Amino acid sequence: MTFDFIVIGAGISGASVAEALAGHGKVALLEAETAPGYHTTGRSAALHTPHYGGPLVRAINSLSRDFFHNPPDELCETPLLSRRGALGLAGPGHEAALDDVLALSTAADPVVPVSPAEALELAPYMRPDRIAAAVLEPGVCDIDVAAFHQGYLKRFRKQGGELRTAFRVDNLTRSEGVWHVSSAQETLTAPVIVNAAGAWADQIGQMAGLRPIGLVPKRRTAIMVDLPDGLDASHNPVIDFAGVANYIKPEKGRLMVSPGDETPMEPQDVQPDEFDIAVLVDWLERETTLKVRRIGHSWAGLRCFVADQAPVVGFDEDTDGFFWLAGQGGFGIMMAPALADLGKCLIVDGRFDERIKAAGVSAGDLDPARLRA
Ligand SMILES: Cc1cc2nc3c(=O)[nH]c(=O)nc-3n(C[C@H](O)[C@H](O)[C@H](O)COP(=O)(O)OP(=O)(O)OC[C@H]3O[C@@H](n4cnc5c(N)ncnc54)[C@H](O)[C@@H]3O)c2cc1C
Repeated sequence: MTFDFIVIGAGISGASVAEALAGHGKVALLEAETAPGYHTTGRSAALHTPHYGGPLVRAINSLSRDFFHNPPDELCETPLLSRRGALGLAGPGHEAALDDVLALSTAADPVVPVSPAEALELAPYMRPDRIAAAVLEPGVCDIDVAAFHQGYLKRFRKQGGELRTAFRVDNLTRSEGVWHVSSAQETLTAPVIVNAAGAWADQIGQMAGLRPIGLVPKRRTAIMVDLPDGLDASHNPVIDFAGVANYIKPEKGRLMVSPGDETPMEPQDVQPDEFDIAVLVDWLERETTLKVRRIGHSWAGLRCFVADQAPVVGFDEDTDGFFWLAGQGGFGIMMAPALADLGKCLIVDGRFDERIKAAGVSAGDLDPARLRA
């Protein structure tokens, strides 16, 4: 079967760009697993954090803001964002570390100092002696990732897009101006392919005979622990800690806790490491008043980075019709609307989105060629 565009990988990156392309031609969206969202997209902390990441990531995120607040018709029936807030805590001797967080404050996304007593009200399970200073970032929100992802897939199908699950691409060749994209069962063709294969993006590039972009998948672990009966923290902020990567996100009756780990791994269906979990539980019991009787659920996902930690968005310079959409790191849900829009502009119109330029991001910042210089 012949398409105008074939997108490989139906996580949030592939689903969003496939939807953006669907109005411009016949699009196939290929997913190796039996359901989209099984890998990193289904394993995130689901947060919209405007001040997280480097300047480039923050600029791209700011361009996704309108989309999240006013999603297009039919994307989903309920709001994509719900207010959560983020509390930055510093223990004795680490107070100065919060100055860097305060320095990020803007009129649109303020960061304000709060007293240790106020912080304790917002995080009633913390040990009071561990809070020497605190800041609050009220603009941090939860993202309804499932609704967001499914919304893109629904709009994609509605525009005539074809989603093929259990289609594991295992061979790529180009001849007579088109790519032949094969699984064990079938070959599809298109002049343009989009590599949105998450942790497997470099493997897809190598299948096409291209040089790697140096993508490193890094494991991040999370566990769910119960709160004591009667303690409802579901409306309390997520907590970051000065000097450590660990963070805590309240959910209904439970806390999601992560060590903020970044262990390099081969692409795989990654699972948490028991030792990491034991160390995390020990830390949690020292920093909070909680006693962990059982771990409700634990998981891990791969956050994927290239050397400069910025996303990789652009055509490969060594061949025709091979577009990279990779390296979204720990920000790929938040950045998806802006990156999908940018990808569509580059693929369909051959131009860099003016809005992104105005936000201070240049084509060279994201182009795969920068990684091979
Ligand atoms: C613990 C954790 C917390 C996070 N928290 C946040 C957060 O709060 N906010 C945020 O914005 N981001 C967060 N992230 C990052 C975010 O989840 C990712 O950036 C994003 O999900 C990446 O999406 P993706 O579509 O690129 O990759 P994936 O979701 O991994 O999708 C890639 C898809 O490609 C498919 N594929 C691979 N090879 C093939 C092949 N050969 N043929 C066909 N299909 C193939 C895979 O099966 C997979 O479904 C977090 C990540 C983790 C792990």
